[in-house]
Amino acid sequence: MLSEKFYVIDAHCHVYPAKIATAAVSATDAFYGVVSALDGSTDALRKEMQVSGVDHALVQSVATTPHQVGSINRFIAQTVRDNPCFTGLGTLHPDSADQAADVEEILALGLKGVKLHPDIQGFAVDDARCMKIYELCQEAGLVILMHTGDSRYDNSNPNRLLPVLKAFPRLTVIGGHLGGYSVWDEASRAYGGLPNFYVDTSSSIFFLGVDRAKEIILRYGFDHVLFGTDYPMYRAQSELAHLLEMGFTEAEYEKIFSKNARRLFKL
Ligand SMILES: [Zn+2]
Repeated sequence: MLSEKFYVIDAHCHVYPAKIATAAVSATDAFYGVVSALDGSTDALRKEMQVSGVDHALVQSVATTPHQVGSINRFIAQTVRDNPCFTGLGTLHPDSADQAADVEEILALGLKGVKLHPDIQGFAVDDARCMKIYELCQEAGLVILMHTGDSRYDNSNPNRLLPVLKAFPRLTVIGGHLGGYSVWDEASRAYGGLPNFYVDTSSSIFFLGVDRAKEIILRYGFDHVLFGTDYPMYRAQSELAHLLEMGFTEAEYEKIFSKNARRLFKL
């Protein structure tokens, strides 16, 4: 396996408590019209990492209501304590009554960033309700992994996110799915050259094909791209194989597979 040559960090994995994993994965599948390859449990993720040569994973789960925020953050923290091969990202919700307390708990739990999903959590990225989240994350040095893009909605496309990146210049944001699921071309042109904006490769290559995905990765540059699978949606082995087909140099692959994630999350 060629990927065994590299230390590989999967920067985009969703995990769920065992008792709700099936329902959560089916709901996401219905939303995107796909069938996830795996079941969303932490056990299946660990096995997937073993068979595909992935060494470390960034795990997260998204609160769809404000009252879930604390319990999900504690679940992710416990999952990370039980699995040294994981690093955890917390969740926040724009309707929470006390964002500052939520961020403090995330920091106290040792979580390294925050995952936000505008479409599933019901907000537009430039919504006034979200400004406190960005301000707190910027001050705390928490990286935001933001779901970005969907041609069906107008929540997280570049017209929404660009003004936020400009208003919070010290905030580090990773735009999931090569910066804009289903709006890849528009996104990769809009965000080029922003120093604190990164993308992950998840849920994109299957739709774009290897050549177009490569073109988009090149637009962002090797210092701004992180490997991700969107576990449980896609198999790591095939995502890695597609990336390895792109013919980058060893040093360029090292950046995508681990160096950029290590730098951003201080791993
Ligand atoms: Zn995601």
